[in-house]
Amino acid sequence: MWHKTIGVRWLFAFLIGISVIAIVRERISAGSEEIKIAGGDSSAMTFKELTPEEERVIVNKGTERPFTGKYYEFNEDGTYTCKRCGTALYRSSDKFDAGCGWPSFDDEIPGAVKRSRDADGMRTEITCAHCGAHLGHVFEGEELTDKNIRHCVNSISLDFISSESADTLQRAYFAGGCFWGTEHYLKEAPGVVSTSVGYMGGNKTNPTYKEVCYENTGHAETVEVVFDPRKTDYETLARLFFEIHDPTQVDRQGPDSGDQYRSEVFYTDQNQKMVAEKLINILKKHGYEIATKLAPANGFWQAEEYHQDYYEKTGKQPYCHVYQKRF
Ligand SMILES: [Zn+2]
Repeated sequence: MWHKTIGVRWLFAFLIGISVIAIVRERISAGSEEIKIAGGDSSAMTFKELTPEEERVIVNKGTERPFTGKYYEFNEDGTYTCKRCGTALYRSSDKFDAGCGWPSFDDEIPGAVKRSRDADGMRTEITCAHCGAHLGHVFEGEELTDKNIRHCVNSISLDFISSESADTLQRAYFAGGCFWGTEHYLKEAPGVVSTSVGYMGGNKTNPTYKEVCYENTGHAETVEVVFDPRKTDYETLARLFFEIHDPTQVDRQGPDSGDQYRSEVFYTDQNQKMVAEKLINILKKHGYEIATKLAPANGFWQAEEYHQDYYEKTGKQPYCHVYQKRF
């Protein structure tokens, strides 16, 4: 009887070992494998709800009538973002009047716009590289500007953040294990304008993922959250942070072990520090032995591109983060 029990235990340990190895291998190899961008696959992302007319253009690749769009004759300073997912696409400094009836830009924010052959076989379609939303078409060689490029974009595919309101945006930094999962949940929170994953809290400038994994850089995998304080507040985001990872685990999170996976809040001012301390005290009163550290934000080093929006790019689901109500 006893050897049967031990056999089952060994089998169980073996299966856990296999799955942990598979996960670790996946993380290590993600840098070298080509990650398929989920162009039109919207299943893994959370999007703004679209009106029927927005859907006609953004999803079904329609075209708004010329000279009718909100941003055709519009010259404020700021950034144009994707209507569906909020990613920054174009800067107002690259906008010009092409006289064509649609907003025109002769440059894009690097990496934000994807080009593909249009279904008509002639033109080049442009889409949001993040979510696949249809934007319009790009034309070259028309000699309208020095750059000789015209992104002809439907207004209805765009939103606009003025430079003035961008000045009021605030930042928060959270480390809670693998940054793929932490970012996945934080970016969906209302009022979050953008997120990026990177490294903070260590002593190496501009570290690589491998250095953070294998050398003692002291960095934690950290998510930078840019949020609009008119739509949310730091406490709401910090509460969410404590509920999407396990703040009782020391120097690890789920199957990921090492001090880069520690739980830590990097605060940008005294108010953020006080809020984090308050939430930790509440959780301690609820019986949690909180391992989360607190430190001032001290330089955020953005991680390699393949780590950004990892789950959206791959269509996979987080393996080590799950929402659990704790407050
Ligand atoms: Zn988008």
